[in-house]
Amino acid sequence: MRAALLIAPEKIEIGDVAAPVVAPTEVVIAPSRVGICGSDVSLFRGYRKAVLPLIPGHELVGRIVEVGSAVTGLAVGQRVVVEPNYPCGACRFCLSGRGSICPEKVSMGVTTAGALAELVAAPARFVWPVPDSISDEDAATIEPLAVAVHAVLESRASAGDTVAVMGCGAVGLLIAQVAVQQGMRVLAHDREAGKLAMAEALGAECPAGRNLAALWLDADVHTVFECAGAAGAVESAIASAPRGSQVILMGLGDKRVEIEPFRLVREGVRIGSSLIYDHPDDFARTIEMVALNALRPSAIVTHTLPFASAEKALFVASTGEAGKVHIAM
Ligand SMILES: [Zn+2]
Ligand SMILES: [Zn+2]
Repeated sequence: MRAALLIAPEKIEIGDVAAPVVAPTEVVIAPSRVGICGSDVSLFRGYRKAVLPLIPGHELVGRIVEVGSAVTGLAVGQRVVVEPNYPCGACRFCLSGRGSICPEKVSMGVTTAGALAELVAAPARFVWPVPDSISDEDAATIEPLAVAVHAVLESRASAGDTVAVMGCGAVGLLIAQVAVQQGMRVLAHDREAGKLAMAEALGAECPAGRNLAALWLDADVHTVFECAGAAGAVESAIASAPRGSQVILMGLGDKRVEIEPFRLVREGVRIGSSLIYDHPDDFARTIEMVALNALRPSAIVTHTLPFASAEKALFVASTGEAGKVHIAM
């Protein structure tokens, strides 16, 4: 089968590889659309180490072409999306409903062959049928949307609250979309004017020209979602979070940051974090939110490229200006 192989940093080759052999508990899917994630870009750029060659890609929609002998409830021809992180299901985190932080988690396109190929295998229990009313564009954006849905849920912010989003990449934009849809006021911050325009189109406000601390105090911000990851952004999110609020760290920055415990403790500012989603509830509720027409996550897609241009798609996704980049298979 044809596959996009990451053979070296910044080098993708379209080549022929052996098709996946379906295990009894798996299905094989023919992807029709695949989204490029920040983690794909990290692998592509060589920031994140993996065993090469690797087929990247984990944000997909496609049709089932083969069903393992032990699988029930899924059939050839069904249109599906994949929840591409597979927690072990047996450790104490999984057993308490926190599969997102399972240390044994396996990730499609990182530790197993990914979706930028004619065919990809996935464990059946992480494969979700999607109704035909959801477009391919929206379906391929369900995985990052689930990250946003999980984060908003973790924040316990609700209708009428004001939240701030630092960093309007895909996850920041999708958090803005989810929060607006749930009746929250959203203040969005980014250095790129194009990203702010996208946030505004999703219903966020993009105030400029005032210091964050004053702005967030005035707006009575309940939660700051820190989605940029850059040390400076993390520091200013924490330093500017108003009395009684919380900062949820989502950006995967690896630089150390400075905080001032005195102010945080005295003013009751809490710092938390949110990573991907918990199996199976977050995917179930995310698909339902899209199916009920409440959310159109494909609003953040700015580029769609053909499969043959996979390498170019990864370069485009690496630039600061692109929103979500999709590959039509
Ligand atoms: Zn992703
Ligand atoms: Zn586990």
